[in-house]
Amino acid sequence: MDIFSKIAAGEIPSYKCAENDKFYAFLDINPLAKGHTLVIPRREVDYFFDLNDDEIAEMMVFAKKVAVAIKKAFPCRKVGMAVLGLEVAHAHIHLVPMQTEKDMLF
Ligand code: 5GP
Repeated sequence: MDIFSKIAAGEIPSYKCAENDKFYAFLDINPLAKGHTLVIPRREVDYFFDLNDDEIAEMMVFAKKVAVAIKKAFPCRKVGMAVLGLEVAHAHIHLVPMQTEKDMLF
């Protein structure tokens, strides 16, 4: 199991933001801004664009709900979204509360 699968399974501790049977959202351990959240599929897939079309659509709808909740909990101008995957080979989306465009500089 990769590290994010272990997080989704509760084998590695994380600060959970939201979950359902297919997806899990938790706070990034090294946040760019307060409330920086990662959204992952429970299924082990290396990279976001390796997900199938239905999974991508469902994950976006789930991420949108999480972004709305983040904006309430961490007031900001907008919640930025990014797909990087430079470090961890398990598909994930970054959701970052932003006040200025600089808040999204990785
Ligand atoms: P990426 O793969 O998109 O470049 O970045 C992976 C992200 O996962 C980083 O922002 C990093 O801080 C976060 N991350 C890596 N390992 C852990 C972990 O064990 N727990 C949590 N909560 N975040 C992690």
